Amino acid sequence: MTILDTGIKVVRNVGRFTFGDGSAAEVTDLVNARRTESSPNAIYLIDDFFKDKKQVVDALGIRGADAKHFIGTQKEPSTQSIDELVVALQASGHTSPATIVGFGGGITLDTAKAVANLLTNGGKAAEYQGWDLVRVPGVHKIGVPTISGTGAEATRTCVMTNLETGLKLGMNSDYTVFDHVVLDPSLTSTVPRNQYFYTGMDAYIHCIEALAGSYRNAIGDAYSRETVNLCRNVFLSSDMMADARRSDLMVASYLGGCAIATSYVGIVHPFSAALSVVFGLHHCVANCIVLNVMSEFYPQAHSEFRKMIELQKVELPTGVCANLTDELRQALIAATIKHEKPLTNALGADFRATLTDARIISLFEKM
Ligand code: NAD
Ligand code: ZN
Repeated sequence: MTILDTGIKVVRNVGRFTFGDGSAAEVTDLVNARRTESSPNAIYLIDDFFKDKKQVVDALGIRGADAKHFIGTQKEPSTQSIDELVVALQASGHTSPATIVGFGGGITLDTAKAVANLLTNGGKAAEYQGWDLVRVPGVHKIGVPTISGTGAEATRTCVMTNLETGLKLGMNSDYTVFDHVVLDPSLTSTVPRNQYFYTGMDAYIHCIEALAGSYRNAIGDAYSRETVNLCRNVFLSSDMMADARRSDLMVASYLGGCAIATSYVGIVHPFSAALSVVFGLHHCVANCIVLNVMSEFYPQAHSEFRKMIELQKVELPTGVCANLTDELRQALIAATIKHEKPLTNALGADFRATLTDARIISLFEKM
């Protein structure tokens, strides 16, 4: 295989981070340090799961005049849902907050990133789907992940789907990166086991795809190797949710996010994106469904994945592509092959020679 340069030379990382059990207790001080006379109020976007977890929410130092919104996780962010939230915040007078706190999983973190950019840049979310379209820095933002794996806490994007056009693409920009990230592994103890596995595997999958690809970046490779090591530590252990393992996975998620900032994914993500666009499956569970049938393309990762899922006794949805109609087949093919960069990374520029329509469909039919 020829190794190609990713071309990515200048990389923006998270401004500061705080790590350790109990570090979420520092959020109050971090927010208060941003409050000024002209911008005294903050915006808190909190995963819906914490709506009735009074103790956790109370510890964040939210004041009466701050904006507090609980973010639903039934659906992944759409450009429309982001626009609605921005309008609601503006209507309640929160146009230039001291900071925005995103407290939750990838959905909540991505929502915080998108809202921060829109409050200063104006316009609609759909106008910024792409690369480097955000013109000015967003509002200061603090990310506090409560589930590990996507790396959303570290990346320069926030994934959103435009429900009108079907385009699933984030605001890829240096301005999308969090100013401060608080990594507190104690927050992930309540995540349901299946969800913990699916989201955690996103870190593993990003990095095995990057390391198997032909576009490479030496720093990205180093992040990826350590991410894969940590994921093995977690998912090949007897209890993936033991305290020390949840700490490992939080580090893996962060490093995995740093890794994808300098590299590209491979075949799993395009197929997974097609499952999300066509059937509305969430990103992380869709990735696992895809890797489960990728033995021809990623034999070693596939067998390791099977070992992990059996060891951790995790269930995977089956029959998601049963009874495909011609229309659905065409939609799945189109939604897969549009991801040219990752497919080229994995299979070369003539990836369609390997990934024929018939082969794509036979893979979907195994899911
Ligand atoms: P999520 O936000 O989808 O949440 C998954 C579930 O876990 C939800 O039900 C949520 O309420 C629950 N949850 C979260 N924390 C919990 C806790 N501590 N205890 C109990 N339940 C908890 O989580 P995710 O899988 O991290 O994120 C998926 C999203 O991330 C997708 O929208 C995807 O597109 C996006 N993503 C973003 C990037 C990026 O770089 N920005 C990368 C990959 C994926
Ligand atoms: Zn992913």
